[in-house]
Formats: sequence, structure tokens, C-alpha cells
Amino acid sequence: MLGHVHPDGDVLGTLLGLGLAMEAAGWSVTLAGPHAVPESLAFLPGSERWQVWKQAPRTYDMIVLTDCPNDERTEGLLAATRTPNSAVLNVDHHPDNRRYGTLDWIDPTAAATGEMVYDLIRALDLPVTPAIAINLFTAIHTDTGSFRYSNTTARTFRIASELTAFGAEPALVSDWLYQRRPADALRMLGEVLRRVRVSADGDVAWLAVPHGLATDAFVSAEDLVTYPRSIGGVKVAVLLREEGSGIVKVSLRGKDEVPVNRIAHRFGGGGHENAAGCTVRGTLDEATAAVLAAVGLALEAKA
Ligand code: 5GP
Ligand code: MN
Repeated sequence: MLGHVHPDGDVLGTLLGLGLAMEAAGWSVTLAGPHAVPESLAFLPGSERWQVWKQAPRTYDMIVLTDCPNDERTEGLLAATRTPNSAVLNVDHHPDNRRYGTLDWIDPTAAATGEMVYDLIRALDLPVTPAIAINLFTAIHTDTGSFRYSNTTARTFRIASELTAFGAEPALVSDWLYQRRPADALRMLGEVLRRVRVSADGDVAWLAVPHGLATDAFVSAEDLVTYPRSIGGVKVAVLLREEGSGIVKVSLRGKDEVPVNRIAHRFGGGGHENAAGCTVRGTLDEATAAVLAAVGLALEAKA
């Protein structure tokens, strides 16, 4: 079970959920990726087994990737673990998935890869233990913004309902995700949110966070782009995080007005119509200007 860079709730929940289900069916399962499980997701059952690989220790007969649109996002681990005889299962809901598997199952109508993996486990008649249910519920919970974004459908609630019956506790998951902030996080949040800016026409809101303003743990734990996104009338929200050494990580969010993945593609990134990201080289000011110009062009083209 191979993860992508900076694993989030959907990739970890699906790899752990499917991994535990396959193990129950007799498979010998290894869970790994190029980066560690973030502190905010350490509650996921099985995450203590997650291995961080800078280099792959061996090759594998079967490699399962979930929520991973292209092999570059494994930082070379897919190339290093696969042989010409390996089965590579690629399960994803990104429309720009590059179909690098020996078997590619891509469903952009799924709100989260968690929905697909749930249907797969049920179709294979594998047991859904409470540990598996918590993982898949968290995958869906995080990718739908707690069931608030436009990707949330009747299918989402049907699956969430069944996962709840299988032992996922929604209040417990929400508590782990959102009610475990360290005390200084609110002070940092206040400091960071003063930097939210809105364009003169109100269409675009952005937040540029200089390196060192807040701790890395804070910036990775908080879904900071949700704040500019929450402003009424805003069509595109942008978060720019300066990582130091001339690298700026960009998150884009849309509201069914312009497909923000097209903006991310211009910078070599990708994602969904309403949630995408990319990495831009340059200073924070340069990256902000370049991304806002691209957002402006996308809004103009739409108008
Ligand atoms: P986030 O803004 O939460 O990091 O990512 C939002 C969405 O954009 C996710 O679906 C993620 O896969 C995608 N995404 C973020 N950064 C990149 C990137 O650098 N490259 C690609 N291809 N997709 C990205
Ligand atoms: Mn996802």
C-alpha cells in the first residue's frame, strides 16, 4: 500500500482501510510512503505501522496506490518497487489521473477515494471492521470538508451511514480532527488570518503565509485555505505557503465557478475542479503575483 507525498485523510484512510481488509483476506501487507503520517491523523487505526521510505527496500508483487494521480507523487517509490511482473492497482477520483497502473480504476464522480474503496471492499465481500470503518469514514469526511462541499452526494451519505453502522463514530472522528489543537494554535491562527486579502471585485480571496510566521506543524495541521474560501461571494480562494529555499506551496479552492485544477495545471500541479494545488518557485510575493494573475485570467475567460 503505497502513499503519495504529504499524505492526507483520503490517501491514508483508503490505504489503511484496504490494507487491513486485504490482510484479513490473507495478504501480507506493507504500508509506506515518502512522508510520515501527520500528527492530526495519528488516530487512524493501523497508522502506527506506516513506514517512511526515502528509498524502497525491495520490489513487490502487487502495489496498491489510492488517491494518487501520477507516479511522480510517490517521489520515485513506485518506479523502485514495481517490476515488469508487478500488478499495480491505481484507484483514484482525480480527473487528471495519468493511468500508470496495470489496472486503473478512476471515478471522478466519487467525492473521495474512500467511497470507491468502500464499494470495492463490499464487492469483494471482505469484512468491514470498526478499524476499517473509521479509516474510510475519515477519508470521506476530510475530502468533503465534513460533508459540506459540492462533491457530497447521496452516495456519500449512504456510504457514511453504512460505515457508521460498521463502527465508525462520527463525533469521535470530528473530535480527533478538529478538537485537539495545541493551545498556541489559536494565537498563530489569529496572527495568520490577519493576512487574508480580498480582490477589489470580491471574486478572489488569498492568504500568503511567510516561512517562519507559524510552526510547520500548525501550517500542516490547519486547513488554512478554508478561511479565505469562507468569505461570501468569493469565487476562488488561494493559500500560498512559503516553505523556505524559494519554494511556495499553493492550494486553490473553487466554488463551481471556475475549474481551479486548470489554474494548477499551468504551474505543473493538478487536482479536482474545486480543489487543486501546485508548487511554485520564487519568493512569496512573486508566487502570489503569478498565481493571482493566472486566477484573474481564468475568471476573465469564464466571464
Ligand atoms: P491541497 O490543496 O489540499 O494540498 O490539495 C488539493 C488537491 O490538489 C488534492 O486533490 C491534491 O491531490 C491536489 N494537489 C495538491 N498539490 C498538488 C501538486 O503539486 N500536484 C498535483 N498533481 N496535485 C496536487
Ligand atoms: Mn481524495
